[in-house]
Amino acid sequence: MHEIGRRQFIATTAAVAGGSVLTGLAGRAFAQAPGKKLGVALCGLGSLSTNQIAPALQKTRNCRLAGIVTGTPEKAEKWQKQYGISPKSTYSYDTMHEMAKNKDIDIVYVVTPNALHLPHVQAAAAAGKHVYCEKPLEINTERAQQLVDACKKAGVMLGVGYRLQFEANNQECVRLAKEKVLGDLKVIDANFGFAIGDPTQWRLKKDLAGGGSLMDVGIYCLQTTRMLTGEEPVWISATEVKTDAVKFKEVDETVSWTMKFPSGVITNCMSTYAANGLAGFRAGTTRGWFALDPAYFYGGNRGRRSDGTEINIPVADQFATELEDFAHCVISKRPTKVSGEMGISDVKVLMAIYESIKKGRPVTL
Ligand code: NAD
Repeated sequence: MHEIGRRQFIATTAAVAGGSVLTGLAGRAFAQAPGKKLGVALCGLGSLSTNQIAPALQKTRNCRLAGIVTGTPEKAEKWQKQYGISPKSTYSYDTMHEMAKNKDIDIVYVVTPNALHLPHVQAAAAAGKHVYCEKPLEINTERAQQLVDACKKAGVMLGVGYRLQFEANNQECVRLAKEKVLGDLKVIDANFGFAIGDPTQWRLKKDLAGGGSLMDVGIYCLQTTRMLTGEEPVWISATEVKTDAVKFKEVDETVSWTMKFPSGVITNCMSTYAANGLAGFRAGTTRGWFALDPAYFYGGNRGRRSDGTEINIPVADQFATELEDFAHCVISKRPTKVSGEMGISDVKVLMAIYESIKKGRPVTL
């Protein structure tokens, strides 16, 4: 998201639940003694790493910021001072393979532009490090598959940064849908967008972003439909509108799409880089409805149910929570719920949405 738009997000400061018993993975050389924290290296020190992930790492009980990968020497110096990172745990994108010798680093969190996820994940995996990768997994299905294959081949774990899979208010809505608390789920309306600034940023470049608002924030609406239905869409009809053909020459500005699911649920979603104020969803059920607005912020997500009950669960820092969970997965060799396969499935659907726009007709999956 755009810098200012992101700053409008409400930060949460609550403590993070979950302790850690580090047992180590068989055959993998962990530097940490049992009970100590897993070392996380951040690859890409942009807005998300600086403002969300590095502060979140300070709140985790089973992870610590142990290394950095950056192309900017001045940033390296600043981060070394701020977080006490040693020069031997500081890498450039070209020296990532040297991490193989660094036992202080267990996990690499890839936070670079979308089309750089593949090379950076490949480098981290080849160095024997577990990988957490930001969304969307990659810019097309083939590259997403290659990324997953690289982790499998290296025998390392892969998780995708779907923070709302760990956010209590979103997960309460999943419970309402699954347990049919207000009847059967029938329709979902989900929207996310912001008015994007700087026309020179990578988010507006197709080769780095893969697409525009859909790839960046539309994926959250897709995740909502995936979480609430527990299904894959089978039919998609999409359309795009551009009001600024110069700024959005390479990528989509506003996308609106409808999806049908096997159970009969129908969803309407919209993503935009043209306007602020859309960041929520409403789910209609046979006996009422439930809704979150906002649903997609870093903190402060809340909503209501048709029976008058408020949905407003105090939550921990979403990035700390997802990292705690991934560290637990690594430690206990438990599969993560935010798997590479889920990442590929989402990219497939995003590609089908673009296909429908291009063909000017619905597509089936
Ligand atoms: P950003 O532009 O602020 O940071 C990107 C970083 O990548 C910068 O440090 C930049 O120097 C580096 N970089 C390396 N090679 C580059 C190149 N060729 N072009 C441009 N930058 C290059 O972006 P960001 O907002 O931090 O987003 C990074 C990733 O995180 C993206 O995949 C994005 O989708 C994802 N993201 C996720 C969330 C979330 O809520 N989970 C929020 C924001 C961003």
